[in-house]
Amino acid sequence: MAGRIDQSLSLDQPVSDTRYAQGTRLQGLQKLGITTLRELLVHYPLRYNDFSEIVSLARAPLGEVSSVMGTVDEVKVKRIRKRMVIVELSLVDDSGVMLASWFNQPWIAKTLTQGTRVLLRGKMTHSYGYRKMSAPLYTIIAEDALQGGVLPVYPANAQVTSNWIARIIQTALEARPALLDPLPVALRVEQGFMSRHAALLAVHQPESTLAFCEARRRLAFEEVYLLQLHLMLTRKLREQDSVPFRHVTNGMGLKAFERALPFTLTADQVAAVASILDDMGSDRMMNRLLMGDVGSGKTVVAASALAAAYDSGTQAAMMAPTEVLAEQYALKLGPLFDAVGIPWALLTSSTTTSERRRMLQALDAGTISVVFGTHALIEPDVHFCALSLVVVDEQQRFGVEQRAALHAKGKNCDILAMTATPIPRSLALTIYGDLETSFIRTRPIATVHTTTEIIPKSEMHLAYEGIREALDRGEQAYIVCPLISNKAPAESSADEQDDETLPASNLLTEFSDEQDSGSIKAAEEELLFLRRRVFPERKVALMTSHLKPAEKRAVMDDFRAGRIDVLVSTTVIEVGIDVPNATVMVIQDADRFGLSQLHQLRGRVGRGEKDGAVYLVTAALEGEAGERLRALKRSSDGFELAEQDLRLRHEGDVLGSRQHGAAALRLVNVVRDAQLIADAHTQARALLDTDPLLALPVHAHLRYELAAVFGS
Ligand code: ADP
Ligand code: MG
Repeated sequence: MAGRIDQSLSLDQPVSDTRYAQGTRLQGLQKLGITTLRELLVHYPLRYNDFSEIVSLARAPLGEVSSVMGTVDEVKVKRIRKRMVIVELSLVDDSGVMLASWFNQPWIAKTLTQGTRVLLRGKMTHSYGYRKMSAPLYTIIAEDALQGGVLPVYPANAQVTSNWIARIIQTALEARPALLDPLPVALRVEQGFMSRHAALLAVHQPESTLAFCEARRRLAFEEVYLLQLHLMLTRKLREQDSVPFRHVTNGMGLKAFERALPFTLTADQVAAVASILDDMGSDRMMNRLLMGDVGSGKTVVAASALAAAYDSGTQAAMMAPTEVLAEQYALKLGPLFDAVGIPWALLTSSTTTSERRRMLQALDAGTISVVFGTHALIEPDVHFCALSLVVVDEQQRFGVEQRAALHAKGKNCDILAMTATPIPRSLALTIYGDLETSFIRTRPIATVHTTTEIIPKSEMHLAYEGIREALDRGEQAYIVCPLISNKAPAESSADEQDDETLPASNLLTEFSDEQDSGSIKAAEEELLFLRRRVFPERKVALMTSHLKPAEKRAVMDDFRAGRIDVLVSTTVIEVGIDVPNATVMVIQDADRFGLSQLHQLRGRVGRGEKDGAVYLVTAALEGEAGERLRALKRSSDGFELAEQDLRLRHEGDVLGSRQHGAAALRLVNVVRDAQLIADAHTQARALLDTDPLLALPVHAHLRYELAAVFGS
């Protein structure tokens, strides 16, 4: 038998080195993302079938989901038209017979052949005199699989079945009884963890619920612990070979800026500014996330940081996801900076070529201290003389690479990220490792109140009534249209892409964030309907990302000036629009938006001295969608809603959109495991306090593990 080290090293061999994973099976594994033994061992079961729950075919209650076990008697493959195949099986057990059918999964006929014993889970129905399950989950039962009482069900495909995967995982684990444990001994003892080998065995083939829970706890901890160490070490190494820059944080520019403000900062704003200046004045790189609800006043907080960069003789860049938002910084902060004498510029894709050329020269020469802009800031030909601070507003709307690209334009810049989509601490820790956070909890203008009503689609006129009342008071309204029109089938064409579609690589990007042509179409239809039928005497205009930047600006100017009464739009208005006189918002098919996105949209009204009203129009009053909308009606706390959003989403949605290092998290659930994540974070930090680069011989295996998992 191979030694401990060999057994552990062999985890990084390709699975194809083993006898069993060859040919089409090897391809099947590759499709599941399994190329090494290590990846095989962390291919955890989706769920487990518990044999104690099995009922006989005759006893399975009709109309309910249950588990049954039978032997395949007959297999029929029916081909209906060219691209439709139905596989229909009859199964028997001692109590009777039943049918099971699957649509367009022809391979099932090859897997579930006559005589195969199979476990099915699905809803039992009655069809033409037979008991029947349509598209049930199925697991083939090997003769020896019944020991232990539970059967793991793995993600599988046509080439490799769940059962086969279970078998090769068992074989692989049995051949390696002495796997090294990367976790430090002291930690294992303190936490009462079982060994890694025992934990892997218990997760893949649990003998009891207790054993499974203990195994999961250990493996989930290990996932977070390794990720934290990886993130912390990477950051340490990056900071190691760079000269820390200390900003001047009590300079004249900052003081003058604060004096020039037309209002006094709220206590939360003051605290946020203090923490930011503290970071900027230290010789550690700032990596701070400023969270605050829409309208909480994050922009002026960021502006103080920008002023500190000016006082330090360096440069700062502030990036927004939309042109409208970038222009708004210029509009609001520009005059204040002018008054103070801080040279600034605005760089977007609408900047003219000659203007841009001059601007790039000035940035390169260092004569511009602060630049506001969009993605245009990360173009390769934008160079800075001495960039020391980057501010990324609405940071969740940018991809990792985009944030990194801006950061790379300076040397070791301080980073201030801002968002109105708050991240629960557990999640922030998992994605960023060490990240400081600041909160603005109270709004500067606290007196206004926004009500949220859920309106059934059949009562849509109530929402229009709400708009009419507001218009009669001389106020304005928004109507937001969702992703897909259901008034008419959208004739989408590929070139109708929204130019504000952002990379989906973001953890908190809403699932409905990407717009498509359907959204624009829905907005156009709504516009016609309103003009003709509902508000023929009013000025109704359309705002979609189809408009050219100049047209958009014209529409916004008209709306701001009150020359437009009702603005029909897609979610392009989600961020940065600030029109205090707009007090009513109707969101069509609100169930199609994510909770955080709805909350962002809602923040567009109730911004001035007048109360706001939001009408969520929906045909989905039940289920998860209805639950989301009711949560929004109940709470106006963006932070609480973000947590709720995570909880309501299926784990798959959260897992599916994970970015970079967090892809290594398989067992961890960011909501449920908040405490475990916090513990692992504390432990990782404590370990690096004693051995900053994991150079001690006792940590050699841990270091090896990090390299194997993260390639670091
Ligand atoms: P957000 O956090 O959503 O980015 P903004 O920075 O756009 O919020 O601020 C919202 C509005 O509140 C702006 O019009 C801003 O000028 C105003 N504001 C910010 N701070 C204060 C304050 N302390 N007192 C009064 N108004 C403020
Ligand atoms: Mg903002």
